[in-house]
Amino acid sequence: MFVSLYSNYRKEISAQYGASFVRKGIFTLVLGLALVGTSKYTVADDIALAYEDKEKLHEIAKAVSAKNIEQDIKTLVSFGTRHTLSETESETRGIGAARRWIKSEFDKISNQCGECLEVFYQSEVISGERRIPNPTEVVSVIAIQRGSTDQDRYVLMSGDIDSRVSDVMDFTSDSPGANDNASGVAGTLEAARVLSQYKFNGSIVYAALAGEEQGLFGGRILAEYAKENNWQLKAVLNNDMIGNIEGINGIVNNTTARIFAEGTRQTETAQQARLRRFTGGEVDSPSRNLARYIDLIADRYIENLDTMVIYRLDRFRRGGHHRPFNDLGFPGVRIMETNEHYDRQHQDLRTENGIVYGDTIDGVNFDYAAKLTSLNAVSLAAMSWAPKPPIEVSISGAVQPSTTLSWSALPKDKNPQLKGYKIYWRYTDAPQWQFSRYVGNVTTATLENIVIDNYFFGVASVSEDGYESPVVYPGAAGAFGE
Ligand SMILES: [Zn+2]
Repeated sequence: MFVSLYSNYRKEISAQYGASFVRKGIFTLVLGLALVGTSKYTVADDIALAYEDKEKLHEIAKAVSAKNIEQDIKTLVSFGTRHTLSETESETRGIGAARRWIKSEFDKISNQCGECLEVFYQSEVISGERRIPNPTEVVSVIAIQRGSTDQDRYVLMSGDIDSRVSDVMDFTSDSPGANDNASGVAGTLEAARVLSQYKFNGSIVYAALAGEEQGLFGGRILAEYAKENNWQLKAVLNNDMIGNIEGINGIVNNTTARIFAEGTRQTETAQQARLRRFTGGEVDSPSRNLARYIDLIADRYIENLDTMVIYRLDRFRRGGHHRPFNDLGFPGVRIMETNEHYDRQHQDLRTENGIVYGDTIDGVNFDYAAKLTSLNAVSLAAMSWAPKPPIEVSISGAVQPSTTLSWSALPKDKNPQLKGYKIYWRYTDAPQWQFSRYVGNVTTATLENIVIDNYFFGVASVSEDGYESPVVYPGAAGAFGE
């Protein structure tokens, strides 16, 4: 175990300083400096402390079925089109048939776990919008698996029901949307199948969201619902296109995925921005630390998958359903394939100059979609067994040889599994948390001879059996919400 962790660490160092740097043996020097930096703790101790392998998480990763995902994508494609403005009465074609089938699948899953899911439609009539001019019911399908001790705390996985072709207003042409985004819905259904076999402390939401292509409506409706109902929504894992492994650039690769995460949060006030200028946090929004969390899950639990955390809200000038959640201040990321194929996105089915266009099922790799689904399922499980991410985290230490972090105690009744807290820190240009120290069940801890200026810091909560929350960066910039 240590060997793989050590190589992860080396990979981070290597990513940070470049492979040639490592090859020249300067890696040893960097490691040496790190040892000095952490005083009495060695890097090996830190890494061993930082992580304990969880058998149940391996079990969840393995339980995800590529066959089920293939079957579900086939079914979704069979509705011909899932355009938001398409047919709703037919049982075999259009968005109405598609959402009724998704609802019936969630109901079936719930049935097999003793009605452990609350399944419901969530709808709003939209009109007067550029892409929905006439009154149209936008209907998402939501399933909630209630937590056993902290019901109001949620993590969420989503995919999108709707599909489109070249003309975004064309609601009659065949629009299979196999990868965009039947893959995300199929992954969400499969994660629900697997995770519904377990009981968690926090609640998990599985969302098949509507109206994405017409203007991110389903996400906006659910995000507003979460806000109005005071959901402590700690993570949105939006899955949009998780099955394509052949890029338009000719690369064929099933070993990497992307996690898009915004920088400074959209809800930041001018006053908070001013404070951040002096204390940092530009690269430590809760969405970023959620992305780092998922990135480590990939290294530890998902075989043959390395994720790239991308420091952007989404692809360049493009959108996805995590954004409406980010708009309201909720931590959220987009998980997707690394190599997109634009001939297979938003295209009329046709052959032109020998090129075949269209988002058909032959462009989906089911094993790869299963791998990304495992990544979601394990991340959701780990966060839902962990205590709530630390609240009211603050930091001090200017002109002192030490750094002090403080936070508020988590309520015991809702977090009976809480063992204590762990401080994390890293070099300011390091992509991933590097050093850590478990400090026990306290609400303040001081790192001696660690100068605040030279690192970024955060705190995670840890359960009795070793499940950890994402790392929370101090202050408004990094807060996961109270
Ligand atoms: Zn799309």
